Amino acid sequence: MAKVLDSFLKENLDDLKSKGLFNVIDPLQSANGPIIKINGNDLINLSSNNYLGLATDQRLKEVAEKAIEEFGVGAGAVRTINGTLELHTKLEDKIAEFKHTEAAIAYQSGFNCNMAAISAVMDKNDAILSDELNHASIIDGCRLSKAKIIRFNHSDMDHLRQKAKEAVESGLYNKIMVITDGVFSMDGDVAKLPEIVQIAEEFDLITYVDDAHGSGVLGKGAGTVKHFGLSDKVDFQIGTLSKAIGVVGGYVAGKKELIEWLKVRSRPFLFSTALTPADVAASKKAIEILMESTELHDRLWENGDYLKKGLKELGFNIGESETPITPCIIGEERLTQQFSRRLYEEGVYAKSIVFPTVPQGTGRVRNMPTAAHTKEMLDEAIAIYEKVGKELGVI
Ligand code: PMP
Repeated sequence: MAKVLDSFLKENLDDLKSKGLFNVIDPLQSANGPIIKINGNDLINLSSNNYLGLATDQRLKEVAEKAIEEFGVGAGAVRTINGTLELHTKLEDKIAEFKHTEAAIAYQSGFNCNMAAISAVMDKNDAILSDELNHASIIDGCRLSKAKIIRFNHSDMDHLRQKAKEAVESGLYNKIMVITDGVFSMDGDVAKLPEIVQIAEEFDLITYVDDAHGSGVLGKGAGTVKHFGLSDKVDFQIGTLSKAIGVVGGYVAGKKELIEWLKVRSRPFLFSTALTPADVAASKKAIEILMESTELHDRLWENGDYLKKGLKELGFNIGESETPITPCIIGEERLTQQFSRRLYEEGVYAKSIVFPTVPQGTGRVRNMPTAAHTKEMLDEAIAIYEKVGKELGVI
């Protein structure tokens, strides 16, 4: 290894470790369901984004197996050469129907999708108004576009309006976009989309909502934009197939011309191999299940409310979440990690989230109850929280 790389890595890794900011990865020895196995131990899983339990759903497994049998394990090429199977276009039609838009385009991941979509439309002569708590993939997508990035305070609509006005009046930019997460995954709060859309109309802003954590969860499953009745007012509806949908992939849903443009100008669509047949078939099935019934969605909310109530009654700070995402805010980074480790030793897998993912001093254990958890599992988790909370002086 080059000496300069060796010293760079040592210095920075030691620094992270000494500050308690180094995340340890535990490989799972089971599927990512409500109970997972790690190091031979069965644990109640409160850390996955598999909100509806669809990652292990038998119906999805069956269509995935069938797709592998018929189409193989790989798509074999990028979408624009000959990697587009009929399965891909059927999935995209289904996404458009699910999102109440004219068309949709699928990408290999949600992260990829943000990198692809923002930079396909915005360039150095443009500006992007971005909520300060937007996801890393949005931040990277904005940077890639070379547009001027103007951050506004989290969900602060007066600040957004002021920044939009300044950007328009400066006369410096050809196009201006406003970007927000639909649901903010660290706190579980929901973007103020009606106000954002109103400001966008006033200043002719392009609207971009990344609903990775709202799809399957809000709007009876159809997402945050639908929840607010704004399906025809948001230009870019972004989603991922990796969370509530339970598989992998990302998408943009919007007007036909926008999707046509993305198909000829977004680089991961043009230069990276298409989603596999199994991913595509399973994702389409998941969306069909969501469109047929709200059963899983309803169970997710019931479980979210149950866990929140249990932790709140014990005296934990669970923040102001408006969704089933249940943060348990501990504060100091090392205490947060110790808390999470003790939960683990007692049988609950709930990961600590610390700086730089969340602001310094607001370390938290993030709980994601899913539709697949039983009340018994949640009761056991709450009892373990009580034990560890008392032991570490958090409650
Ligand atoms: N956007 C948001 C808001 C996310 O939370 C995530 C995943 N953490 C992504 C995009 C990336 O999605 P994926 O995991 O499908 O790449």
